[in-house]
Amino acid sequence: MSLIELKGVSYSYPVKEGYNVKALRNVSLAIDKGEFVALAGMNGSGKSTLAKLLNGLYIPTDGEVLIDGLSTEDDANTFEIRKKAGMVFQNPDNQMVATIIEDDIAFGPENIGIEREDIIRRVDEALEAVGMSEFRRRTASKLSGGQKQRVAIAGVLAMEPQILILDESTSMLDPNGRKEIMDIALKLNKQGITVINITHNMEEAAIASRVIVLRKGRIAMDGTPKEVFASGQLEACGLTLPPVTQLSRALMDVGFEFDGVVTSEQELVEGICRVLK
Ligand code: ADP
Ligand code: MG
Repeated sequence: MSLIELKGVSYSYPVKEGYNVKALRNVSLAIDKGEFVALAGMNGSGKSTLAKLLNGLYIPTDGEVLIDGLSTEDDANTFEIRKKAGMVFQNPDNQMVATIIEDDIAFGPENIGIEREDIIRRVDEALEAVGMSEFRRRTASKLSGGQKQRVAIAGVLAMEPQILILDESTSMLDPNGRKEIMDIALKLNKQGITVINITHNMEEAAIASRVIVLRKGRIAMDGTPKEVFASGQLEACGLTLPPVTQLSRALMDVGFEFDGVVTSEQELVEGICRVLK
């Protein structure tokens, strides 16, 4: 059994009498524990809808979503599912519930009746995991966007989830903030947390172990970053190759050779150095 299973999932938003928007169409998908998935696609392709189906915020119009074997359709599972799958959203300013950072992180565990001692441990560990321990008594409003997103991740970690879903959580950050969040996601993934990073930034997609591309509510591609970047289908899905991949292609046109598709600066530099030698 996979940690996440979607079986023939469709989702429609009722817009008005007799008219609805089909956001997802017959999506079937399995994601195993420990995967680092980038979920990509242009605006309106259905990424956020899929994310909200994963933690039971939405229930499929058709089909079924199972998280660790629990169907999101059954109300009795909602609480467990929300604990298992934590979500961080796009806007760093909309996610804080308390003024002081440690109170904000404690909010989730307090709400589900965790013992005082255990809350303190969880908050300590979550702050540590996102590198924000020295900020614990600070006011959230004074933080940078990247720091706020790190606190939002800590809030999710305090619930001890199995799945971390980032819905365009870096899109309002500068390159440094973006990298910090991705480094944290990679570290958490190494520790066993399954990560789903929703993005249309292909540089971010390149660090995932698997890239799933949505197009008009359907899965258009599903493979390793190299497979997806080599497909020639990315543009048709409204996405652009990462700069390193584009540069390597331009260099190939003038005689450079690389082993397969270049997805990192390191591969690019190695390829160039081989030729220059
Ligand atoms: P993405 O996150 O990839 O940008 P969404 O999942 O937000 O895509 O949207 C998928 C489709 O559903 C789009 O056509 C969008 O306009 C529509 N949609 C999203 N939210 C709503 C809503 N609350 N009501 C009606 N239509 C919606
Ligand atoms: Mg979205």
